[in-house]
Amino acid sequence: MAVRAGIVVTGTEVLTGRVTDRNGPWLAEELRRLGVDVGAVLVVGDRPDDLRAALRFLAGEDVVITSGGLGPTADDLTAQLVGEAQGRPSAVDPVLEREIAGIVERFTARRGWRADPEATAAGVRKQALVPDGATVLPPVGTAPGLVVPPAQGRTGPVVVVLPGPPPELQGMWPAALAAEPVQRALAGRSELRQETLRLWGTLESQLAATLRQHEFPGLEITTCLRDGELEVVTRYGPEAQSEYDRLVDVVREAHAGTLFSTGPTVDDLVASALGDRGLTIATAESCTSGLLVARLTERAGSSAWVLGGVASYANSAKEALVGVPAEMVASYGAVSTQVAAALAEGARSRFGADVGVGITGIAGPGGGTPEKPVGTVHLCAVGSSSGGLPRSVVLPGSRSAVRHRSVTLAMHMLRQLLLGGPPA
Ligand code: ATP
Ligand code: MG
Repeated sequence: MAVRAGIVVTGTEVLTGRVTDRNGPWLAEELRRLGVDVGAVLVVGDRPDDLRAALRFLAGEDVVITSGGLGPTADDLTAQLVGEAQGRPSAVDPVLEREIAGIVERFTARRGWRADPEATAAGVRKQALVPDGATVLPPVGTAPGLVVPPAQGRTGPVVVVLPGPPPELQGMWPAALAAEPVQRALAGRSELRQETLRLWGTLESQLAATLRQHEFPGLEITTCLRDGELEVVTRYGPEAQSEYDRLVDVVREAHAGTLFSTGPTVDDLVASALGDRGLTIATAESCTSGLLVARLTERAGSSAWVLGGVASYANSAKEALVGVPAEMVASYGAVSTQVAAALAEGARSRFGADVGVGITGIAGPGGGTPEKPVGTVHLCAVGSSSGGLPRSVVLPGSRSAVRHRSVTLAMHMLRQLLLGGPPA
C-alpha cells in the first residue's frame, strides 16, 4: 500500500501571490523521491479557521507537512493550531525557550539592533510553545520545527511543522525525516519511479491519440506542454518497469521525428554537447536581449563554454557591437533572416566562439505590420563547420511568451546543430 502525504503551505503572502511558493514543490519532489504519494498541496492564508480546515481536509493522509507560521509574531499560529488539531495542548518548553533566547540575542547583537526586551521575551516564549508529546526539531533560523503525532487514542496523520523560509525548511528536512514518528509513518512505502520523455513538435492531442491505442497498466502518465515542448512524465512502481519500457517503444515508434530525449532536458543536452566537445558559444540577441545567454549561464560550470552575449536591441548596437552592416538593416529591416544570420556570425566572430546564435523579432504588443506581424522572430545558429541553421517563425502569445518561446526554440536549434536529431 502506498504511503500518502499532504502539504499545507501557510502565509497570506503566498496565497496572494506576492511570494511564489517554493516549499510545496520542493517538499512534493522530496516525498516523491522517497516513494511517498502526495495527494494535495494546499495554500492557506494566516487565518486560524483556514488552517484548521486544511488540516481536516488532509486528515486521511499518513503524513501532513506544514510550512510557515512559526515566527514570533501574532499571525504565526501554526504550532498551536496543529497541537490543537492533534489533541495535544501546547506549553512553553523552558529549555527550548532559553535556547531560542540565545539565538535571538546573538542574531540582534550581530546586526547591532536594539530590541525591546519585553517584546522579544514574549516572541521567544511563543516560539518555545511545544504541543505535549511533540518532537522538537532544532532551529535552523530562530524557529524550531515540530513533529506532532496524533494524541494517544486518536487516529490521523503525523504532522510535521516546518518554518516558512525555504533555506530553513530545507535545512530542517533531514531532522524531520529522522524523527521516529515520521520513520514509522513512512515505513510501509515502496519505490516510486519517475521518468520523462520529451518531444518537440508533437501536440498533446497527437500524443493522446497514440496512447489511446494501448493500455499501460501500472503507469500514471501525465503530459504537459511548455514553451512548445511536450513533457511526458510517468510514475510507476518497479513492478511496472516493463510496461514503461513498452511505453517508450510505442512513443518512439509513433513520434520518432519529435522525441528528442528520454530523460535529459534540452538544456542538459546542449550543455553536455558543448562541454564534452570543448566548444564555445556566444549570442547576439535583439528581441530576447540576453534571455538566451542568461539561460545558458544558469548552469554551474557554463563558463567553460559560454563566452558571452550582446543585448543588441537598437540598430546602432547591432551595427557597432556585432558588425551588422547598416545597409543590411536598411534594405531588409532589423527583423529579417539576413540580420539574424549577421547577428549569429557577428557574435561568433566578435567573441571568437565556435558557435554563434542570433535572434531578432517583434515581441509586441506594438510594432507589428501586415508583412511582419507581432510574434515574427528570425533566429540563426552557426557553427564553425556547417553553414548556418536559420529558422523563421510567427509565435503566438504575449510579449513575454514570444520572448520565452524564442529562447526555447533557440535551445532546440542548438541541440539540432550540435547533435542532429529531431529538427527544431
Ligand atoms: P519567520 O520566523 O521568518 O516569520 P515563519 O516560519 O513564520 O518564519 P513565515 O512567516 O510563514 O515563516 O514566512 C517567512 C518568510 O519566508 C516569508 O515572508 C517568505 O519570504 C518566506 N516564505 C514563507 N513561505 C514560503 C514559501 N512557501 N515559498 C517561498 N518563500 C516562503
Ligand atoms: Mg512568520
